[in-house]
Amino acid sequence: MTQETSAPPRPQPVRVLFEGRYRKFVRDLPQTIFYCPECKGRGCERCEGYGKLTRDSVQELIARVAMPRFKARRNKFHGAGREDVDVRMLGGGRPFVFEVLKARRPMISLEDLAAEVNRRAEGRMEIFDLRYCNRKRVVEIKEARCPKEYAALVRFEKEVAGAEMEERLQRLQERGRVPIVQETPERVAHRRARLERERWIELAGWEREEAGWRLRVRSAHGTYIKEAVSGEGGRTRPSLAGLLEAPCQCVELDVLEILPPEPVEEEQAGPGLSR
Ligand SMILES: [Zn+2]
Repeated sequence: MTQETSAPPRPQPVRVLFEGRYRKFVRDLPQTIFYCPECKGRGCERCEGYGKLTRDSVQELIARVAMPRFKARRNKFHGAGREDVDVRMLGGGRPFVFEVLKARRPMISLEDLAAEVNRRAEGRMEIFDLRYCNRKRVVEIKEARCPKEYAALVRFEKEVAGAEMEERLQRLQERGRVPIVQETPERVAHRRARLERERWIELAGWEREEAGWRLRVRSAHGTYIKEAVSGEGGRTRPSLAGLLEAPCQCVELDVLEILPPEPVEEEQAGPGLSR
């Protein structure tokens, strides 16, 4: 049954997606809303009723400006991977897609949006290179397998003489990519399948600092880099600690660059299989 009305039809709310990149300059900002693990967002004693453990996230800092402009209530944030809360995201930034659900104003200036988000979040994070995109980009961005370059501040358990450490670092750098096997780290084992994965790490440079050695490390997509440094009691083999013959921990981490994606290695074709 249809009904004639004289009022002009209200525009249907639409889904709007835009993509861009973010940089994060602080060590207390998660990428997406950090729901309280105790109550899953409902609010409890641990989170003092807020339902989340940090006030802000990259997603929320964008949403607070974007949602009123798009006249929408709900959004989703799709990152090309994510860094831990305490890891800074520097260099060329990390690609993301921001999805606005049921926008009643579907076209706004993304340039103005970025300017206002960055003004409010100054010193904490920034977004740039925003442009509208379609839903295919969500999958493309989430599935790209990009190696990363990190700066890892490493503290050794026992002091190794500077010259000796320089020599070990030099030898490791000359080896280039070192294949490693990594078990699912203990800290994420509750939400990831326990598997052994083949990855690689590569030492790209270093600097001696007062607090330790700042190592520039490249690694394959999906490498847990803190565990690749310490070895986590043998769950990563070999680890940077093992390769340098000096037990150590990663005490501070920055993503310096998300490198261009690498083609997925094809599995060995069995006999009789042609492709
Ligand atoms: Zn809670």
